[in-house]
Amino acid sequence: MNQLFINNQWVDAKDGVTYSLINPATEEEIANISNGNQEDCNVAVEAAHAAFQAWGKTTPYQRAAILKKAADYMRANLDVFAKDMVVESGKPLAEAKGEWTVAANLFEWYAEEAKRSYGKTIPTNRPDKRSSVIWQPMGVIGVITAWNFPAYNPARAWAAALAAGCTIVAKPSENTPLSAFHLAEALMKSGLPEGVVNVIVGDAAAIGEAMLQNPLLKKISFTGSTRVGKILMDGASKTYTKLSLELGGNAPVLIFDDVDVDALAKVTSIARFRNNGQVCIAPQRFYIHKNIYQQFCDTVTKHVSQLKVGNGFEEGVHVGPLITKKQKESVEKLLEETRQENANILTGGHTPENMQKGYFLQPAVVADLQQSSVLAKQEIFGPVLPLFSFEDLEDAIVKANDTEYGLAAYVFTNNLKTAIHASERLEFGIIGINEWAPHGTESPFGGWKQSGQGHESGSEGMYEYMEKKLISIGGL
Ligand code: NAD
Repeated sequence: MNQLFINNQWVDAKDGVTYSLINPATEEEIANISNGNQEDCNVAVEAAHAAFQAWGKTTPYQRAAILKKAADYMRANLDVFAKDMVVESGKPLAEAKGEWTVAANLFEWYAEEAKRSYGKTIPTNRPDKRSSVIWQPMGVIGVITAWNFPAYNPARAWAAALAAGCTIVAKPSENTPLSAFHLAEALMKSGLPEGVVNVIVGDAAAIGEAMLQNPLLKKISFTGSTRVGKILMDGASKTYTKLSLELGGNAPVLIFDDVDVDALAKVTSIARFRNNGQVCIAPQRFYIHKNIYQQFCDTVTKHVSQLKVGNGFEEGVHVGPLITKKQKESVEKLLEETRQENANILTGGHTPENMQKGYFLQPAVVADLQQSSVLAKQEIFGPVLPLFSFEDLEDAIVKANDTEYGLAAYVFTNNLKTAIHASERLEFGIIGINEWAPHGTESPFGGWKQSGQGHESGSEGMYEYMEKKLISIGGL
């Protein structure tokens, strides 16, 4: 199962090329994976287009039966799937199991939601005329996804697009293809007709370009960096391929002085380092009220320095390796820049002792940062907790909104007025008040500003893959 998946068959790339998939915890080769390119993408698009002729006409009830079965298959195979996810992504086993549970939930939720894609009738101004609006599936969807959630990222787009009646050419990250292959396996074993889902992995730029250039492909759903999102926007401006973009983030966290500082600092040490900070909605810029700044710094540092770093299979590990050597180097470079800024690294930021193999980095806490710091400007995507301070609500809001990103923001306070004012003034698509997990299968997930356009999950996620059609009947 290390090949491309086209027409319900596992096939080699046309030119026979493979690449070596590396375990980030051991730097050992996991498998040789078929390395697809433009030509493979076009074959997959043809397959998806042929399959759409029948799949697009199925009832939501027929589609729901298959999606629900696939969710059950994921749950039944959770242990095996989760182990492969740990091997390819490095995340702790408990996180991998949790992610597969959410992936299954997405398929089950969209199985139900497909049945509710209601249109509407519109009263007209003529007695001989009737108007109605219906929703129809777009056709073939290209789904390009990032490695940080190897099952969740593809699952939320695949489940919604399939529920809508679309067919798919998926391109998961070259770093984490195994989980996407398992998703395809779950769907095939659940009776998905051939060609409805196809998975190719390999030369990302060539495959992205082939998707843009192929007129049979109606939309690209992209989850990844703002940098690559802009490349796709450039291309789409010439081909008019529609785009949904779920891009980078740089989430602020506003912590006011009416909270239980010690309790919050303790959970912060877990929330910030979930998936090693490699999360698009990861709490990144911590703005702490000046009255509790020192207490918060001390307590959070104590907890972060106790986090266990190691192979995701080890008991009690909180933080695994970063995904690649390049990713580790990019975080180290950011830390080096903060040293130049005279910030204080209170703990971590180095390769843990006796861990020379694998892309491990000791979780870091950095304090005394200015708003001009590189840690305020750039998405870190790694195990660094930067601490800034603020004077009052106004100061906090201005600093929090001072970013080109607009995905998620968090506010911690026991004052209702502060919570409401802050949530209304923050320029972000997702706001968590006194909680770290503001999103859910049933809620719309999407970014403002350069964090994206369109939504995944929730009913909004399904309509991203449908076209609205007005039907007007005259002469009645
Ligand atoms: P990335 O943009 O480098 O890669 C994402 C995907 O795009 C991968 O499958 C990659 O192979 C592919 N790709 C790379 N170059 C391409 C090109 N020229 N044309 C087409 N496809 C191309 O991002 P990454 O490093 O894999 O993931 C991290 C980024 O993803 C972070 O910025 C993170 O915030 C973002 N992300 C966003 C969300 C969200 O929902 N908003 C979710 C997860 C990750």
